[in-house]
Amino acid sequence: MNVWDELIGQDEATEVLSRAVADAQDAANPGPAMSHAWLITGPPGSGRSTAAGAFAAALQCPDGGCGDCASCRTARSGAHPDVHIVRSDTLSYGVEDARELIVRSAVVPTSGPWHVVIVEDADRFTDDAANTLLKVLEEPPRHLVWVLCAPSAEDVLATVRSRTRSVHLRTPSTGEVAAALHDRYDIDPAMAAFAARASQGHIGRARALARDDNVRTRRQEVLRIPASLRDLPSCFTAAASLLESATEDARSITDELDAREAADLRRAYGEGADGVTAARIDRMASRAMKDLEKAQKSRRTRSVRDQVDRALVDLMAYYRDVLVTQFEGTVPLINDEMRPQIHAEAALCDTAETTARLEALDRCRQALAANGALPLILEGLMVELKDPYVLAR
Ligand SMILES: [Zn+2]
Repeated sequence: MNVWDELIGQDEATEVLSRAVADAQDAANPGPAMSHAWLITGPPGSGRSTAAGAFAAALQCPDGGCGDCASCRTARSGAHPDVHIVRSDTLSYGVEDARELIVRSAVVPTSGPWHVVIVEDADRFTDDAANTLLKVLEEPPRHLVWVLCAPSAEDVLATVRSRTRSVHLRTPSTGEVAAALHDRYDIDPAMAAFAARASQGHIGRARALARDDNVRTRRQEVLRIPASLRDLPSCFTAAASLLESATEDARSITDELDAREAADLRRAYGEGADGVTAARIDRMASRAMKDLEKAQKSRRTRSVRDQVDRALVDLMAYYRDVLVTQFEGTVPLINDEMRPQIHAEAALCDTAETTARLEALDRCRQALAANGALPLILEGLMVELKDPYVLAR
């Protein structure tokens, strides 16, 4: 098994990246298939970070990405000294972050032939930050490889795009995801088929759905929302409980990280060392602690929004199924296990109403991405889902 095997349904991208690796054997004199700056794009869950990690590993591995050696393993986990993985926990990267990245990237590789910098959410660079990066993308140090990841090429500045070589990942088919769940994680075929279908090709989500009862329960709660919207109070209740679940799920991810980071910071300021008092740490670390708390707050906000967005995607799949049923389409339902409820919903309204509900969900996702006030936009959404013509009245 080599590093490329982790990519599901991405033959074309694998071909381009492995040719680059073959041309990168002589770091001092790489061939034309290799480039110093890459842009890996693809929809959420298609495996952008996995592709970037595989590429970094293959560049560092003496065998071009065997998947087993120390270089391959550490490059993918982020522990390789010459592979720097940048993950944004916040909503954007500013100029300061970009400058720090440039300073770090100037370091000559210590063990491998290349210094690889992977930026997992290059779409989160502010315009100023992206402009700061341009120079180093244009004339990178000889051993440096940039691997930027973003949902689509349009998500990064045109000036950044034009200085990178693009690799596009596609959404893997339901069959490919189901087969991967079965082969790699030993998930039984029925559960693998369900998770692949429900996740709509998002591999991480499919794995979570297949392996975690709580994730499946949460999804069920979300899919029960449409039938629960009888009157105005029930709309407000649905909005509040969706937000509450999203906040709870986000906390379960961020709380542990927050505590670990705070402990690391206190240790860095001498906690546990002889003669270092708590008061001294409080005094010395107060500025750094404030910065950390600010970053953590921003991460919590993003995490709640990510959870809400996931629920909205599930609701869109539900109404998409209603629409397919109303058109008597032959394409398979995403929520096949809910067929009776979807048929009942389809009989209650017409295609124009279902389309209006899908549009309301789409607008809600846009408002979410634009940092709208969560309680308000969710309440507005529920009212529109109950009565899609409410705004026209
Ligand atoms: Zn290897």
